[in-house]
Amino acid sequence: MPATALSSDLMVKYEPVIGLEVHVQLLTATKAFCGCANQFGSAPNTNVCPVCLGLPGALPVLNAKAVEYATLASLALNCQVRERSIFARKNYFYPDLPKGYQISQFDKPIAEHGWIDVPTADGTMKRIGITRLHMEEDAGKSLHDGFADSATRTYLDLNRCGTPLAEIVSEPDIRTPDEAFEYLTRLKEILLYTGVSDCNMEEGSLRCDANVSVRPRGQEKFGAKVEVKNVNSFRFIRAALEYEIERQIEVIESGGRIVQETRLWNAGEGRTYSMRSKEQAHDYRYFPEPDLPALIVSPELLAEAKRKLPELPEARRARMIAAYELNEKDAHALTVSREFADRFEAAAKTAKSPRRVANLLLSELGGRLKALGLEQEQSPVSMAGVVMAADLLDENAISSKQLKQLLDICFEKGEDFPAVYEREKPQQISDAGAIEKAIDEVIAANPKQVEQYRAGKKTVAGFFVGQVMKAMKGQANPALLNELVTKKLDA
Ligand code: ADP
Ligand code: ZN
Ligand code: MG
Repeated sequence: MPATALSSDLMVKYEPVIGLEVHVQLLTATKAFCGCANQFGSAPNTNVCPVCLGLPGALPVLNAKAVEYATLASLALNCQVRERSIFARKNYFYPDLPKGYQISQFDKPIAEHGWIDVPTADGTMKRIGITRLHMEEDAGKSLHDGFADSATRTYLDLNRCGTPLAEIVSEPDIRTPDEAFEYLTRLKEILLYTGVSDCNMEEGSLRCDANVSVRPRGQEKFGAKVEVKNVNSFRFIRAALEYEIERQIEVIESGGRIVQETRLWNAGEGRTYSMRSKEQAHDYRYFPEPDLPALIVSPELLAEAKRKLPELPEARRARMIAAYELNEKDAHALTVSREFADRFEAAAKTAKSPRRVANLLLSELGGRLKALGLEQEQSPVSMAGVVMAADLLDENAISSKQLKQLLDICFEKGEDFPAVYEREKPQQISDAGAIEKAIDEVIAANPKQVEQYRAGKKTVAGFFVGQVMKAMKGQANPALLNELVTKKLDA
């Protein structure tokens, strides 16, 4: 975890308070209230119809898949799902909102009272409360640049109107920018595992507004909060919070007062700018949506969602740590995505030693991929190839040095392990006489280690095995080598 910039004396005096509002687009095939395609990147204004454009007389019909996804996300975030929730109109004028209101949920959201556990600076876990998860629809997009006449015109693309969203609002439980970063990382991971969103920040399918205030440590009452918008990566959210905390402390220290306002993050300059103050804040005039009945999540629907809920990342890591004797770090690496963890586990099950498969995957392959700047999916060596390599090592059919050489060839030629192994089948010397001769030479050259071994330090045998293997260019039959080394040393 990177150290924060907020290490001044003033951080001893003030405590930040942070709450996050996250919008995620749900991965449904069609929009929330009409049959238009819910698709990123279509030609502008092609996925639209009278319902999502809000033409007179058009009526919304709720997408059942969106409800299923919102319910799944709610359960994954430990929320209580309300059996009866209500849609409301949130009224405001903006060119990318042709209806003049957004269908959202207000006082009766689909889910409340959840939480996510996040790791903190001291290594313990901390529970961050989730106030609510509610369903709503997205607005369109204003295109301010990219056109020849962008200096004088703004264009509208209404394809995004009516895209189903879940808004997830945290309690003001977060205390540092690092905790905010961890919360978002965990939240995204859970949502990805649940499969309800692709959480792609570049495409806007996950967006976050950060609320932050500071108070003198020991004071119970929260300070006035500032909402920071327009932040498009978790790193920038951390940076924006760090900036904003320092700014607020400076204002207070110099005798000023923080006013509740919305500020915009400017990534280029690494600072926030005031956008509107509380006095200019919207009054959304929420009222129940007359065109939609109450949303009922019946006990049957809820039970079905519970059945569909996959094993979540934290639980999966705990199980895999126990099942394959992994450490925490390796468990994280193997569960980066549900798909990767699935592929690993399916393959590992067929191996003699799943733990060795994990080790090879993360060290030998992971190292090579990292050096080349490749992702796991781009590896020339398949999961089955890794299992084969691990089994060969386990059977002592190849030495680890030979394995490294074979993997080098795989990466050089872009070939999978089985093919390279069949072609290159490493020479293995199983001639006991030749191996014994090499052992004798190593024993003669290392009297001190022989003494240690004979004094009871049996692990020194590994040193001899390594030296002989090196002398024999990695070609000695490892099983036979092990056996002969022990025999010679014990003689
Ligand atoms: P608003 O009515 O302005 O939208 P909410 O009470 O709905 O405010 O809270 C929005 C978000 O701001 C939530 O995530 C909440 O945890 C957070 N929040 C509320 N008060 C504060 C505060 N004083 N400092 C920091 N965050 C806060
Ligand atoms: Zn439509
Ligand atoms: Mg709010």
